[in-house]
Amino acid sequence: MDSAARPPVRLRDALAAVPDYVPGKPASATSGLTAYKVSSNENPYPPLPSVLRVVEKAAADLNRYPDMANRELIDALAAFVGVDPARIVVGAGSSGVLTQIVTALCEAGDEVVYAWRSFEMYPIVTGLAGARGVAVGLDADHRHRLDAMAAAVTELTKLVLICSPNNPTGPVVHDRELRLFLARVPSSVCVVIDEAYAEFVRDPDAPDAPALLEEHPNLVILRTFSKAYGLAGLRVGYAVASPELAAAFAKTAAPFAVNAIAQAAAVASLGESAELLGRVDAIVAERGRVARSLAEQGWRLPQSHANFVYFPLGEDTMAFAQACARAGLVVRPFAGDGVRVTIAEPEANDRLLDVAREFGPR
Ligand SMILES: *Cc1c(COP(=O)(O)O)cnc(C)c1O
Repeated sequence: MDSAARPPVRLRDALAAVPDYVPGKPASATSGLTAYKVSSNENPYPPLPSVLRVVEKAAADLNRYPDMANRELIDALAAFVGVDPARIVVGAGSSGVLTQIVTALCEAGDEVVYAWRSFEMYPIVTGLAGARGVAVGLDADHRHRLDAMAAAVTELTKLVLICSPNNPTGPVVHDRELRLFLARVPSSVCVVIDEAYAEFVRDPDAPDAPALLEEHPNLVILRTFSKAYGLAGLRVGYAVASPELAAAFAKTAAPFAVNAIAQAAAVASLGESAELLGRVDAIVAERGRVARSLAEQGWRLPQSHANFVYFPLGEDTMAFAQACARAGLVVRPFAGDGVRVTIAEPEANDRLLDVAREFGPR
């Protein structure tokens, strides 16, 4: 039979428009140098011994399904955030929770508004739902233009995604602009604030998002154990929302999305918050050191409140990424836009400063 007689399986049309996710490349050794993977904003610290012990214990029960209700984890998160457990939803990473949110809200013809450049998962989850992404350009300081995003909301808009701090550029939205934005957007439109880097924020003007939930039942806060808590490999994230939305987002979860080891490790990590947040303080101190040195070199970069810095290099993006690679640093270039580099071990950060000095400030 020739291939014309064998028509291919018919995939959903929506898939054709979905971009591939580009994962951070693994570190690769260059000319005897220790290589550093600074392309995925991972935590450079290894898991705490106490968390590893819990992981090992949970592994002994791998013949059993995990708790589908995620009871212990949801109760621990509710106590941690200071809200009712009915407001918490968990998923396989906050990307998993975001997929649950989009699945619960969006179908073909709907619109999702987000800033651009922002987290590259946004166009993917939007496209998978068959919805249309409406990308609103960042301002000259690489910040969200919340006024323009509010103006982009139409009858078709189901969801607005705000990334704060913005991945890959780093700035946070401010409390005042977020309040104005929420006052302007219809309460029938869901507004997600993606706070994957919340623990790294040191800007006094940043919003206290959970405090806005009561007044704005359309607001959803998205957080993760992947960055500050160093559990990227286990895939746990959560949302805080109105009880109604939380129930809807739980419905669209993949069955048993958060595995038993991940549930146990996340609960244990909340119990070790003080130590883990001490590590975050050390990374924030390194971020400050890197930012000051780059400014002294003459670089003008957006202000980062996350665990990375962003070099808006435009045409020079790939050349800078190659210079980093030659120094054993695997970074995350966005061709034509800029390069994102994770704040990691001091040695990796020092090497970044050397490459940046040599490359010449822009
Ligand atoms: C890393 C990141 C996430 C979290 O991803 P997980 O799926 O929780 O690992 C979510 N949003 C943004 C903006 C991120 O950078």
